Amino acid sequence: MPDKPKKSNKSKKCIKCDKSVYCSDLCSEHFKDYFEKKIKRTIKKFDLFSKKDRVGVAVSGGKDSTTALYVLKKLGYNIEAVTVDAVIGNYTKKNLENLRKVCKKYDVKLNEINFREEFGSSLCFIKSVAQEKGLTYSSCMICGVLRRYLLNKYAKKWKFDCLVTGHNLDDEAQAFIMNVFRNDLILAKRQGPVSGSGKANSTKVFVKRVKPLYLCTEEEIIKYSKFMKFPVNYEPCPCREGAYRKEYADMLDAFEKKFPPTKYNIVQFFLRTVHQMKEKDIDKEADKDIEIGKCEKCGEPCAKKICKRCEILGALKGEIKTKK
Ligand code: SF4
Ligand SMILES: [Zn+2]
Ligand SMILES: [Zn+2]
Repeated sequence: MPDKPKKSNKSKKCIKCDKSVYCSDLCSEHFKDYFEKKIKRTIKKFDLFSKKDRVGVAVSGGKDSTTALYVLKKLGYNIEAVTVDAVIGNYTKKNLENLRKVCKKYDVKLNEINFREEFGSSLCFIKSVAQEKGLTYSSCMICGVLRRYLLNKYAKKWKFDCLVTGHNLDDEAQAFIMNVFRNDLILAKRQGPVSGSGKANSTKVFVKRVKPLYLCTEEEIIKYSKFMKFPVNYEPCPCREGAYRKEYADMLDAFEKKFPPTKYNIVQFFLRTVHQMKEKDIDKEADKDIEIGKCEKCGEPCAKKICKRCEILGALKGEIKTKK
């Protein structure tokens, strides 16, 4: 299994040459080569996209999406970058500056979408109004829902065949274990190297979202990004509210340290089990109707009568205006 992360090397020498280990039992040069090949193999293995496709890469200015952007460009894919600025003060300002630099350097078109232009407000303002109204939405929930909505809307408008996200092996292992702990088969089924609802994908309602870093660990991505000296922000977002998720991350890190490669094994288990299940069997097992319908207000695909975005903006009616 070539994509399996390697165990720690006691001799601290690269397994391919005499140089010292940089990451994954390899020196920096061999690691770089291994890492890029792993992404190439992941794209082929899961049939994510081809050289003929117009690929939108959702970028945030962080290490994951910047790495995905650079490697896909290097591999010769037809890519454009798309970023959604939630207007989180200096944090997103700095990220945007970095993204503009990266895209200029590697000659990739950068498409910018902005919360203020779309909704008339920054994330922080939307959050504060929501709080005043007694809503319990976290910043990350609001940010995630609104960003996904905008990315899908513009990916369709700009006719991308798919949208790349920077999710990595750690993200996927955490998400799967969270769904196991919550016994949420429907959400678990929506994970995977190609995500979104299968039914909706088939009718082109959701632009397919794909994850070329699916088999790359967080550690590998940090090492690669630092080796490449990408101008990225390694600091966490100041609005981050992920205490619950962090508990899973810490738990898996502890297991990984003691029993590697725990995260890889979790993801492989998912791929061999839940990922292979058919939608109808999931419906039966979950005893729920997951028919994807349309939001009564905006017509976007959703599982309930009203999509979350309309719920959020509807609750804030009169204070937030959406762009028609
Ligand atoms: S950490 Fe949360 S609030 Fe910050 S950019 Fe990510 S989803 Fe948005
Ligand atoms: Zn080497
Ligand atoms: Zn809606």
